[in-house]
Parts: sequence; structure tokens; C-alpha cells
Amino acid sequence: MNKLAIIIPCYNEEECLLETAQEIKKTLFNLQEKLKISQDSFIYFVDDGSVDKTWEIISNLHKQDSKTFKGLKFSRNFGHQNAVFGGLFYTKEKADFFVTIDADLQDDVLAIEGFLDAFYNNGSEIVYGVRKKRATDTFFKKTTARFFYKLMLFMGVKIVYNHADYRFASKRAIENLFLFNEVNLFLRGIFPLIGFKTETVFYDRKERKFGESKYGLKKMISFAWDGITSFSVAPLRFFVFLSLLILILSIILGVYFLIRYFIGKTITGWTSLAILILFLGSLQCLGIGILGEYMGKIYKETKARPRFIKDMELF
Ligand code: UDP
Ligand code: MG
Repeated sequence: MNKLAIIIPCYNEEECLLETAQEIKKTLFNLQEKLKISQDSFIYFVDDGSVDKTWEIISNLHKQDSKTFKGLKFSRNFGHQNAVFGGLFYTKEKADFFVTIDADLQDDVLAIEGFLDAFYNNGSEIVYGVRKKRATDTFFKKTTARFFYKLMLFMGVKIVYNHADYRFASKRAIENLFLFNEVNLFLRGIFPLIGFKTETVFYDRKERKFGESKYGLKKMISFAWDGITSFSVAPLRFFVFLSLLILILSIILGVYFLIRYFIGKTITGWTSLAILILFLGSLQCLGIGILGEYMGKIYKETKARPRFIKDMELF
């Protein structure tokens, strides 16, 4: 009852795949020696529509050692989040717990033992791998990433600071993950919504040894934007606040303009015009804000997220 599946999304990773496979196989072997996972635990590669030799390498690995290496190939590139989700989807009945890790081995594989210990010792069903520091990231990546996490938290999206998609989850947690039917996947936001006992394990993040990051600036911005718009109605709410702000401003300025009008220090017609513009501006913002409130409701309904998730029942 402790079969581990390690899920690895791969997109054009021919340069590092072999080394990654050996490294993770070693980890698996080590954990089996310590009797922390069963002998039939396995590594599951998800080829996310690679155009290089990635699938060929996965097939060869499977040929050499079909017990350890298994694989799934997507029909085209669907993106990192979908590759992780797909890997979990196709293994959900084939294992008892799951670890997802990137193919470039920037995340320290030794943390997996920590994940398992958190599960065995404390009953933690979701364990987040969190990088201690970003010493190996460029200054640019560090600052943009920090800004991203801060912005998400500010928008009310609950995510674990400095946690990417290196995590452990129990079978029960994964089963409940599939109650989230949303198409715009942002797993870092969804996992905290599943609940159960969770924990974080810290590790050092290394440099990418081979190949290059598949997350350029454009992809990073679109990912961040996806995260915010998939989890937060704050941008919609913003207009209600804006309208209130403009309303207060228009009252203050309106009084001031009227005073200037009565003491004769203004051009004819200007006072009424200025007050009208301010008033209509705030009215329009209020209208947009109210529409936003309704849209926010529709948005939540269309996601059809689970209303509750059962932990246990006494009956
Ligand atoms: N990846 C994927 N599909 C994509 C882009 C990336 O499956 O469209 C995989 C990639 O092979 C790697 C992981 O997602 O295993 C993370 O990508 P990367 O290391 O390039 O991102 P970074 O660590 O720079 O954020
Ligand atoms: Mg990486």
C-alpha cells in the first residue's frame, strides 16, 4: 500500500532526460531499500508534445526497464500545468501517492524522502517543496518571481511562497483534485483549496544543467496573469472602489469649484462642466463595478468547484 508514482513533465528535454532518469531511479531504489516505498513504484514521463528526441528516449528507457520507466505522450504541446495534471490523471489509480517534479532536476530529489516522512510521521497529505533561496536564479528571475508571489497574495490568491510544482500528494488528495474541472489550470492555486493536512519541506534549488528554461518572460507573464484571473475577482472589484474614490473626489472638487464660482473667480460654464464630468465618471465606474460583481458570481459558478471535500465521517 505504498506505491509511489513520480510524474515528470517533459518538453524538449532530450539533453537532460537520461541523467534525470538515472538520478530519479537511484532515488527510487534508495527509498525502496529503506522500505519507504514499494518495489513496484515507478517513474512516469509525460511528453508534452516535444519536437526533439524526448519521446524516443522515454521509449528506450521503457524498453530497458519497463517496471521503473513508464510514459505518456500528448498529441501536441499543452503546457506544463496540463502535463502535470495529465500525468496525475493517468496514474491516479496506479499508485498510492504521487510526486511531481520537473525534468531538469533543478529541484533536489533528496527532498522526496522528506515528503514521505511528512506523510508517514505527521499524516500530511499534501507536501509542498519550497526552495530555500533563489541563489541560482538570475536577478531578473528572482525579482519578477517575488513580485509575482506578492501580487498573487495581494489579490487574495492563497499560494505557498516560493513553491513551484514540486510536491507530494496522497491518493485521496489527488482524487479530490479531479473535482476541480476548470480548464485554466493553475495547480499552485488549486492544491491549497483541496485542504487536508499539509506541510512544507525546504530544499536548495539548483541551476538548470542542460537545455534552457521553457518559461521565457512572455510565458511567465501569461502564467502569472492566468493565476490571477483564474483565482481572483479582485480586478473586477477594483472598479467599485475606483467609483467611490472618484465620487469622493468629485464632491470635494465640486464644493471647491462652486466656491470659486460664487466668488466670481472662474470662467462661465466651466463649473457645471467640471462637476458633470466628475459625476458621470464616477457613475460609469460604479456601473462597471456592479457588472463586475455579477460577472464575478458567474465566473465562480462556471468553475463549478467542489462545495466541500470530505475528510472523514462518523456514521
Ligand atoms: N514543460 C512542459 N511543457 C511546456 C513547458 C515546460 O511540460 O510547455 C516542462 C519542462 O520540460 C520542465 C518543466 O515543465 O520539466 C518546467 O519547465 P522549465 O524548467 O523550463 O521551467 P522553469 O524551471 O524555468 O520555471
Ligand atoms: Mg526548470
